[in-house]
Amino acid sequence: MSDTTIPSFDGRAVINGERVAARDSQTFDCISPVDGRLLTQVARCGQSDIDAAVAAARAAFEDRRWAGKAPAVRKRVMIKFAELIQANGDLLALTETLDMGKPVKYAKGVDVNSAANCVRWYGEAVDKVYDEIAPTPDTALALITREPVGVVGVIVPWNYPMIMAAWKIAPALAAGNSVVLKPSEKSPLTALKLAELALEAGIPAGVFNVVTGYGPEAGSPLALHMDVDCIAFTGSTRVGKQIHVMAGQSNLKRAWTELGGKSPNIVFADCPDLDKAVEASVGSIFFNQGESCNAPSRLFVEASIKDAFLEKALKLVPQYQPANPLDQNTVMGAIVDQVQLDNVMRYIGLGQSEGAKLLAGGERVAPVAGGCYVQPTIFDGVTNSMTIAREEIFGPVLSVLSFTDAADVVKQANANIYGLQAAVWTRDINKAHGVARALRAGTVHVNQYDEDDITVPFGGFKQSGVGRDKSLHAFDKYTETKTTWIRIDSPI
Ligand code: NAD
Repeated sequence: MSDTTIPSFDGRAVINGERVAARDSQTFDCISPVDGRLLTQVARCGQSDIDAAVAAARAAFEDRRWAGKAPAVRKRVMIKFAELIQANGDLLALTETLDMGKPVKYAKGVDVNSAANCVRWYGEAVDKVYDEIAPTPDTALALITREPVGVVGVIVPWNYPMIMAAWKIAPALAAGNSVVLKPSEKSPLTALKLAELALEAGIPAGVFNVVTGYGPEAGSPLALHMDVDCIAFTGSTRVGKQIHVMAGQSNLKRAWTELGGKSPNIVFADCPDLDKAVEASVGSIFFNQGESCNAPSRLFVEASIKDAFLEKALKLVPQYQPANPLDQNTVMGAIVDQVQLDNVMRYIGLGQSEGAKLLAGGERVAPVAGGCYVQPTIFDGVTNSMTIAREEIFGPVLSVLSFTDAADVVKQANANIYGLQAAVWTRDINKAHGVARALRAGTVHVNQYDEDDITVPFGGFKQSGVGRDKSLHAFDKYTETKTTWIRIDSPI
């Protein structure tokens, strides 16, 4: 990292528009997975810090300093916020790369751009979404209006820290709520910068607060808080289940969860372009070091083309060898931390001990001394009952299975607790539609895996979560629907 200037980071929380240390002055080390260096000390928030942030958010909501502004004004502020994200893109991208290890070219080209676009899109929506009047008899008028739910707690993971935060804070703020965001302890830095930029854009103090810290110490108090009206969570299914319990144990706050995945990617022998199918399948599992909830980690290839498919796939693997993520040419960076790296290595060991055939990778590497890196890894001969086919690895590990029958592969694809995403590759339009309909997943791709747009909903079936991020559907999470009946006494 010698030729990159490392910025100095302020690890204090943002509460009521102020940078503040944790009330008991506790901090934790923010270590870069790029080379193991200490980036900064971050506020280790606990119950009293969460109480303060929620109180600030509640006060801001009650005095309507944000919700009470004209929609066109809120729109302009949010668009300014998006512009500031874009203008600070280099710093945000560098921060994200240092904090969680992804290649800086994607941190800028994907994460910064997507986060800014998301904030802009919801900002633009503020003065374009209308309420409704119900088709009631003419003796009364029934207004159906959307109101902000109030104080929204947001808890996000470390794999796309800015994007995951933006998908929640943008519609929540656009709808007029106040927000308390808790980023992952593994990647807290860009969230803190986003809060500064929001203030600079004109989002009033107290409306968007960021508390840093560990899940049980800072996340649970937010999910259990009696004065939080809604909790929006992205993370593991294990913690997501606890979030719903905490919502029920406390004030029955609205709880929305975007959770894990083990997405099946089904390639039929009649796929329209084998090279494209191979490139997309390999590229998508190794993108972001495999640390994507929607990574196509279970690849089902029709038996008659499996050898040809794998031969092509193996030729692509060398281009995904991990390298220094600060280098502009790098496509595979560092795993977020040592704990996650150990986790990935444990799954690679399980794949071998349960009888899968290691075709590529499987080893830790050290393109940068002191960092957390693992080779892109492919297992062949995987069966659906093996651990590496059942559980989310969240690393660059592809499990290859084969099939001969469409009905059987759909059954296997659906035989998993998750239902986030899926793909089918075929030139037969009947098979494409039939399989897409039968797959139990929130998103199904046909003959590609990379289409994405803020206009489309994202979320899961089954244990991949409850609710949808992105698109106008996200407003359902952050608003209450109110009916106002108005009597009309003398219809003419
Ligand atoms: P995680 O569940 O360990 O942590 C997520 C967040 O929850 C973190 O901020 C963490 O501090 C917090 N947390 C942990 N324990 C908590 C508790 N007891 N109470 C309250 N908060 C708590 O997940 P992770 O390892 O950070 O992220 C990886 C997971 O996120 C994967 O399962 C991945 O699939 C999922 N994910 C899902 C989506 C999606 O949109 N479906 C997107 C990205 C990541």
